[in-house]
Amino acid sequence: MLTVERGGSAYGARLITDQAIQNGELIFTITGHQVVTEATYQTVQIGIDSHIVELGVLAYMNHSCQPNSIIDTTRLMVVAIRDIAAGEQLSFFYPSTEWEMDRPFICLCGASQCVRLVAGARYLSIDTLGRYFINQHIRDLAVAALDQAQRAPQYAVATEVARE
Ligand SMILES: [Zn+2]
Repeated sequence: MLTVERGGSAYGARLITDQAIQNGELIFTITGHQVVTEATYQTVQIGIDSHIVELGVLAYMNHSCQPNSIIDTTRLMVVAIRDIAAGEQLSFFYPSTEWEMDRPFICLCGASQCVRLVAGARYLSIDTLGRYFINQHIRDLAVAALDQAQRAPQYAVATEVARE
């Protein structure tokens, strides 16, 4: 059973598991959602131009830079990536689904490798993203962004100067 706990914490609402969950276990399947084309603070991105709303309990999953769960946006499943104790809050790494967030925030998760500014994968290095499970649409967008950066005029100028 999952419980939404409201208030009384720094996080506002959060999603708590009432029972222990094992690493690799399917926690729940995402259902009942609608697909939209624009990101808002209430959406989860599932494709390059697609985001879902009407998220049910998923709406209460907070971000962590050391998360205990992932959202697999291809299979629409929330899966544990370590053993989770009863009473723990479920969390995932927002940039694993979001390229550019509607409402960025400063993370206070306390993890040693906290990314601090949570604004979407677009604002993180490939090295940082490499530490996490990242969905296919984010990998595709990161590759496209790198490709574009290499074709930028500044880069071409720098290359010409270097050759002389
Ligand atoms: Zn953090």
